[in-house]
Amino acid sequence: MKKEDCIFCKIANGEIPSKTLYEDEEFRVILDLNPATKGHALILPKNHADDLYELSDGQASKIMLLAKKMARQMTENLHCIGMNLVQNNGEAAGQTVRHFHLHLIPRYENDGQQLGWKPCEATQEELEMVRKQIVQ
Ligand code: AMP
Ligand code: ZN
Repeated sequence: MKKEDCIFCKIANGEIPSKTLYEDEEFRVILDLNPATKGHALILPKNHADDLYELSDGQASKIMLLAKKMARQMTENLHCIGMNLVQNNGEAAGQTVRHFHLHLIPRYENDGQQLGWKPCEATQEELEMVRKQIVQ
């Protein structure tokens, strides 16, 4: 289902033009309008899902296969030397568009980008407490 005021619904379904790299019945892969690096692409499902939690299991599996295929094609043709897959869920995680999308970000020597986090210290006890909290 499409959501009326969702820009990625409109792009995915072809109502707003985009630089499309791939399209099938369920997905469209487009170039990001403000790329982190050359070739930065987004995989968009045509059906609206706010985020990962709302994706069907079927779509979630297909998206990873599509990501693999696109990453290979982009690597071959753009000659990038690495590829980051990034997927933000919720405002706190940096999601700015509430329609699920998976970023494919090709990486190049000295591309000036820094994707990542600041590693923190954790004791074995702290890790064990978190482990128990998650698997309870
Ligand atoms: P996120 O922060 O994970 O929600 O990522 C949203 C991404 O969508 C950003 O990288 C934006 O540059 C990109 N974006 C926003 N609007 C458009 C658009 N109309 N066409 C293509 N990419 C877009
Ligand atoms: Zn949408």
